[in-house]
Amino acid sequence: MTKKIVVLGAGYAGIRVATQLKHKNGDFEIILVDQNTYHTEKTCLHEVAAGQQAPENIIYSIEDCSNCKKSKFIQDKVVKIDKDNNNVILENHGKIDYDYLVIGLGFKSETFGIKGVEENAFSMVNLDQAVAINKHINSQIRAYLDGDRDKKKLKIIVCGAGFTGVELLGALAEQMPKYAEKHGFSEDSYELVCVESATRLLPMFSENLANYAIDYLKDLGVKFITGAKVNEIKPGIVEYDKDGEIHEIEGGTIIWTTGVSGVDLVSESGFEAKRGRVIVKDDLTVEGYDNVFMLGDVSAVIDPESNRPYPTTAQIALAMASSCVDNILKKLEGKETEKFVYVSKGTVCSLGNTNAVAVVGGKELKGYPASALKKIIATRSIHMGSGKIGLTLKKGRFDLYR
Ligand code: NAD
Repeated sequence: MTKKIVVLGAGYAGIRVATQLKHKNGDFEIILVDQNTYHTEKTCLHEVAAGQQAPENIIYSIEDCSNCKKSKFIQDKVVKIDKDNNNVILENHGKIDYDYLVIGLGFKSETFGIKGVEENAFSMVNLDQAVAINKHINSQIRAYLDGDRDKKKLKIIVCGAGFTGVELLGALAEQMPKYAEKHGFSEDSYELVCVESATRLLPMFSENLANYAIDYLKDLGVKFITGAKVNEIKPGIVEYDKDGEIHEIEGGTIIWTTGVSGVDLVSESGFEAKRGRVIVKDDLTVEGYDNVFMLGDVSAVIDPESNRPYPTTAQIALAMASSCVDNILKKLEGKETEKFVYVSKGTVCSLGNTNAVAVVGGKELKGYPASALKKIIATRSIHMGSGKIGLTLKKGRFDLYR
């Protein structure tokens, strides 16, 4: 009997599973479910938020990539995963049974329960939010120019200097002078401020590389307030604790980038999760549920070197997807599954469009070569996810000399 493989989420992991599986032989059908009709290249959200990229440049149609005789796309929201009865409940399409389930539902912004974050700060975990940030920055520029010229309107505060915060600051530091020129305000009218609880920034890089990145951003005018833990966000105000003293800074745009966790649906469906991530078995299935694979940001694979879960990245999600495809095929053939082994290809953090820092194969890179590498990785990801050369040529990052 034809086996039904249901894939939840068309993020990096989900879309890759669906596009790879549909080319494989076997008596199975694939149903890919996502609440959106498009896949988002989420590693580029900061560029949309800053206004460097049009939203349509970082998305592509899921249906175009997944639909075929073997594979069908359903646009709907997953409301429940009933792992004990092998079915999922969708908001509009109701119950769907599965033989194998792949969960790649992605992440949400982590507020750590800090007061006022949800109400008074923008998070940046999906396309709508990135678009909303850019609209808000532009509305603040208009309000500044048409109103009282209060410079606070042009002050952008980024909370958290992880990869997301730093990449966003790099894009903003490049874009704001362009907005200043376009709208006719001086470059000393706006401010970019980052509030970060750690004192050593970008700890995943050597001090040398991290200093290069932070000094570069400082040279572009970004002000870092480090050792400063945000306690509360009030309307237009970030309150933080530094050296036991409470401070407040005001800004027209407050963006929350202090980390992410897996979506709530995972723990709501009874999976044992910590910050929305489930520690999976060696073959990426869930303990007690051999037909359920958990991939990407909802999944935690322990790094044998650090004994901690690998950080969530697009790269590991894509690697998990390939391993999951192999293991589903093995299960369909009645063979033993294989252990997922992660070999990181490296880490890149962009600093605007033409600068970046990176570690690749143990070697440190900075400047233009690192930035070109980031674009090559982004282009490869579009190709591996969509499986379509035409789409890769259209949406890929070939602006290496811009
Ligand atoms: P993160 O957890 O990596 O960084 C969050 C930062 O916020 C940390 O520096 C932390 O000290 C700070 N912070 C937390 N609470 C705070 C508070 N109350 N006040 C002030 N500062 C606070 O989160 P992220 O940057 O959103 O990244 C999420 C994941 O996505 C990470 O695993 C990251 O590696 C990955 N990512 C990778 C890339 C890339 O590879 N280029 C880009 C973006 C994100």
